[in-house]
Amino acid sequence: MLKINENYRNLKESYLFSEIAKRVKEYQDANPDKKVIRMGIGDVSLPLCPAVVDEMQQAAVGMGKAETFHGYGPEQGYAFLREAIQGYYKEFGVSLEADEIFVSDGAKSDVGNILDLFSTDNTVLIPDPVYPVYVDTNIMDGRKITFLPANRENHFLPVPGPDTQGDIIYLCSPNNPTGAVYSREQLGAWVDFAKANGSLILFDAAYESFISDGSPRSIYEIDGAKECAVEFCSFSKTAGFTGTRCGYTIVPHTLVFDGTPLNRLWLRRQTTKFNGVAYVVQRAAMGVFTPEGRRQTRENIEYYKRNAQLMAETMEKLGIWYTGGKNSPYVWFQCPGGADSWAFFDELLHKAQIVGTPGEGFGENGKGYFRFSAFSSHEDTQEAMKRFYELYR
Ligand code: PLP
Repeated sequence: MLKINENYRNLKESYLFSEIAKRVKEYQDANPDKKVIRMGIGDVSLPLCPAVVDEMQQAAVGMGKAETFHGYGPEQGYAFLREAIQGYYKEFGVSLEADEIFVSDGAKSDVGNILDLFSTDNTVLIPDPVYPVYVDTNIMDGRKITFLPANRENHFLPVPGPDTQGDIIYLCSPNNPTGAVYSREQLGAWVDFAKANGSLILFDAAYESFISDGSPRSIYEIDGAKECAVEFCSFSKTAGFTGTRCGYTIVPHTLVFDGTPLNRLWLRRQTTKFNGVAYVVQRAAMGVFTPEGRRQTRENIEYYKRNAQLMAETMEKLGIWYTGGKNSPYVWFQCPGGADSWAFFDELLHKAQIVGTPGEGFGENGKGYFRFSAFSSHEDTQEAMKRFYELYR
């Protein structure tokens, strides 16, 4: 008789977004005249930029003509896109071989899929609070997880200490949910730790394009990282590809564990289980790297960054402790008056008609904290911050 993967029984139900939706619906049903502003969304709101749409349209038309039709493509991604990504990394001083770049259908899939390469005996170190995918994908495989506390004391940027242990280490910078960004020194400490202990860092750079203060945008800006880290990136937040689906994963040739180059292993895994990203989508991603695409996506990021700045300024004016907001689309703050994050959620909804995300949905250390995202419109962000200021001044 068929037996299921028992590890799935150990997954906790995720009530976060369904509970938020339920509470908002109840409030809105009882108060149909009130305008609720959503400051909790992790999805983008601006459309794809014209340079991306142009590429996509041309590619789609080409697919209908025998001369320019494309069938199965290379599993690692088309050369035109990998070369464009190579050029992009050069801008922050990172030189990559084209075959170290694997085009993906987004960071989420690869963050989960990479675990195929590693024994379930490995231990895993995950900062708390965290993007929940890191936790659940390891529970599915039955790996032992240790949580690393991120908190006000370490500014939500934990670094390795004398007791730190873990074969697989997850780092996300700029961080979801906290918006905190690791400095060069802090990432250097992680790279040194990983190299000294034979650990692998899984570095999630999904929000790198929000960095503008010289902080590292890629872990490979740190010496030695190519011997201990895989990097995941995405066009989702950089260029509004949340629904279009494209990203890339970097597996350097110098990453060798247990006598085996991970690049070869990942290529074997991908050529067996993945048939590549749609040609039309890769052409759309190519549009991001054209001069117009760079300018237009930068404008969109600046738009979100202005929202984030406004939120950060509001926290400053109110004297509320927060992280993020500067090189990130998220502001993570301590609930005023020491409130519990769900009680604060209700207060904000009922008194100011603002919806955010309670921090405890991201882990134990999120208790008493709250996340706002910058992906709403300017108008809504301004209105929400006005209401927020009035309520807590
Ligand atoms: N990594 C982090 C930290 C995220 O917050 C998200 C999406 O919200 C992802 C990865 C997923 O990105 P993608 O849309 O490329 O799958």
